[in-house]
Amino acid sequence: MTTPVTAAPQPAGLPDTIRHWIGGALVDSADGATFEVADPVSNVPYARAAAGGPADIDRAVNAARAAFDAWADLSNRDRADILVRIANGIEARHEQLAEFESFDSGLPIHQARGQAHRAAENFRYFADVIVALGEESFRQGQEQFSYVVRSPVGVAGLITPWNTPFMLESWKLAPALAAGCTVVLKPAEWTPLSASLWPGIMAGAGVPAGVVNIVHGVGEHAGQALVDHAGVPLISFTGSTDTGRHIIRSSAQHLKTTSMELGGKSPVVVFADADLDAALDSVLFGVFSLNGERCTAGSRVLVERPVYDEFARRLAERAERIRVGPPSDPATEVGALVHPDHYARVLHYVELGRKESRLLAGGGRPSHLTEGNYLQPTVFADVSREARIFQEEIFGPVVALAPFDTETEAVELANATQYGLAAYIWTTDLTRGHRIAHAVESGMVWVNSHNVRDLRTPFGGVKASGVGREGGSHSIDFYTETKIVHIALAPPHTPRFGTGGTL
Ligand code: NAD
Repeated sequence: MTTPVTAAPQPAGLPDTIRHWIGGALVDSADGATFEVADPVSNVPYARAAAGGPADIDRAVNAARAAFDAWADLSNRDRADILVRIANGIEARHEQLAEFESFDSGLPIHQARGQAHRAAENFRYFADVIVALGEESFRQGQEQFSYVVRSPVGVAGLITPWNTPFMLESWKLAPALAAGCTVVLKPAEWTPLSASLWPGIMAGAGVPAGVVNIVHGVGEHAGQALVDHAGVPLISFTGSTDTGRHIIRSSAQHLKTTSMELGGKSPVVVFADADLDAALDSVLFGVFSLNGERCTAGSRVLVERPVYDEFARRLAERAERIRVGPPSDPATEVGALVHPDHYARVLHYVELGRKESRLLAGGGRPSHLTEGNYLQPTVFADVSREARIFQEEIFGPVVALAPFDTETEAVELANATQYGLAAYIWTTDLTRGHRIAHAVESGMVWVNSHNVRDLRTPFGGVKASGVGREGGSHSIDFYTETKIVHIALAPPHTPRFGTGGTL
């Protein structure tokens, strides 16, 4: 059956203009520039968004600086109360948020619905953290007592990608605001729609004008201006490894603190003794949920030789049965990829994969979806470690399988890329599970589990997957400066220079 080509159903309340939010007001760019925003089902523009540049960033940074002292001076409890109200505001809009996110990014509506809850939870969690936060103290016997004073760093620059945009924005906004920073957020240009809900949520929660500022625009202009601005001492960035490298280089000019959450090519290591049904469910969900546009996707599946053929066959069968369809359909499991440029890039990798390895499932546009950025869940087997589809992040519904014979080889293969974000291990031998978890080069490892997050734990990667950690106290460390105060408890014994006596 062929689905007739129709534009995506437009959610209620869709704006035709998406404007910056600076100093508590919705504003156009200083030069009036805009860019077109399209949905990934029709690829037809549905709105224009303000295209920010240096003048708009400057205006936003000035507003954030003007709001900083009063926000930083609030008690932790008062800021936490506001964060809880932000969480309530998100939840009150959860249906509209899900519809906006799904419409704009192509995320299946069923999966977009979970994002509002996670975004709200980020604010509730960091409200708790900041209220419970203590500061370290150190005593040196009877002689000296030292204590740490934390203060917010200043105006935080937040730059976010287009995959689960609202949730990732909340992941930065919540700890920055909890810590007492004011912020300038630059959302991803392909998916600015859900960010248009922040002004209503923030203002409704009583966030003072200027504490949160949002400047839309293309990365090379708006994002770069934020990175280059002398009034922004820290940049929290989530996005691709190449952009991250570039931002670190640009940040050097003002010696900014940076946090980098970058790309991944995470391995799933499946041993023959594993619960193979559970591993199969996890592999399928890990790489095909969120359209495969997920930084922690388990996109390289390494399977012990005795169960390799069977696992590959079952994976391909299930992949073939995944429902690809309109993001707005509640039955859809894989929706439309975010943008035609990204779609073309992913298709290019699929073509490479056909040359480099053996195609087991998918490999093209589903026949019933003749337009829109749709791709069948695609499985490649016998992928060599030199293959580009083994080495490079595809960021779509494409998975590469390879067999291994020994534990040593499994670890070598797992570590054989430049990335090191997440890793997943499936075995019933717990000793081996721990051993491999320690040997794998990654910031996060899950054993016999898919990607279940605990907001208290450090999140981030090693090698080309990032620098620094966010989550829990790590986020508060990032958004605050620490000062140590030393106080003598007894008369100081200072060597007496300039007295002419012995020292
Ligand atoms: P991207 O690097 O192209 O863009 C990310 C953001 O950076 C966008 O807002 C963009 O406008 C901005 N930007 C681009 N050039 C800039 C510049 N010169 N200066 C300042 N800002 C600039 O990434 P993307 O394609 O939007 O996102 C996908 C990537 O994000 C993938 O590699 C994915 O793995 C990664 N990601 C990582 C995590 C993580 O936590 N590690 C989470 C989600 C996504």
